[in-house]
Amino acid sequence: MTKQIGDELPIHDFPTATSVDEFVRNIAEVRGKIAAAAERVGRAPAEVRLLPVSKTVPEDRIRLAVQAGCRELGENKVQEAKRKSEHLADLDVAWSVIGHLQTNKARDVAAFASEFQALDSLRAAAALDRRLQAAGRGLDVFVQVNTSAEPQKYGLPPEEVEGFLRELPNFSALRVRGLMTLAIFSSDIPRVRECFVRLRTVRDRIRDEDPALLGDGGLSMGMSGDYEVAIEEGATCVRVGQAIFGKRQTPDSFYWPDAAGEPDAAAADAR
Ligand SMILES: *Cc1c(COP(=O)(O)O)cnc(C)c1O
Repeated sequence: MTKQIGDELPIHDFPTATSVDEFVRNIAEVRGKIAAAAERVGRAPAEVRLLPVSKTVPEDRIRLAVQAGCRELGENKVQEAKRKSEHLADLDVAWSVIGHLQTNKARDVAAFASEFQALDSLRAAAALDRRLQAAGRGLDVFVQVNTSAEPQKYGLPPEEVEGFLRELPNFSALRVRGLMTLAIFSSDIPRVRECFVRLRTVRDRIRDEDPALLGDGGLSMGMSGDYEVAIEEGATCVRVGQAIFGKRQTPDSFYWPDAAGEPDAAAADAR
């Protein structure tokens, strides 16, 4: 596979978008890079869904992004997502929760989210299903896989994914759409790429065995710093925050317990 962007992820400054025009420009730039990455590996750009991630972004700027064309938004934290979905209820936006779920928040997710991308326990599946059944709703889910073998990171170890998927039909409100991962926090492209390859390999192996287990067999992988690599390795959904909204001030360790401990966390922060 051709590597177009060298072995080190570039450090971006991700300027903050503060007008509809700036959002239009940022989104167009990301879409252009998505298309180029897809075409490099002979994929159709339309196979890749762009999920804009609005965590930490205040509601007035989210409104600008929606005016610029964002129809779905990803949020890492349930409380923040819930508050925004309530305050922005006049907008036509589908909310995707992409961060770890504490089961006591399942009721909230069942009420406002249209997708949950970080499913990694049967406890969470059961809690969500119960709340969804009560609300008469369904929820698209991605099963999160730990592809970097960093011990504290959320997600199932690759070898447990198939067994986990075999339990999910017990929770009929959950519609499995595929697998999700976060790559290792590193600017070293080969190590990042390895995580994406691992997720694809898990997906392919399970699909060969029993295609019904995996729904569409989607792969949600890639963020602002590494989505082009992820697309080269088969991503069908990229979760992009900073490249659309601008650099985040909150350190990644707030969202991922291990981000601060990684030796090159500074480089990862700049991704
Ligand atoms: C914040 C976040 C992203 C997006 O990260 P950016 O660097 O802003 O593109 C993707 N996935 C998850 C799970 C996140 O929490």
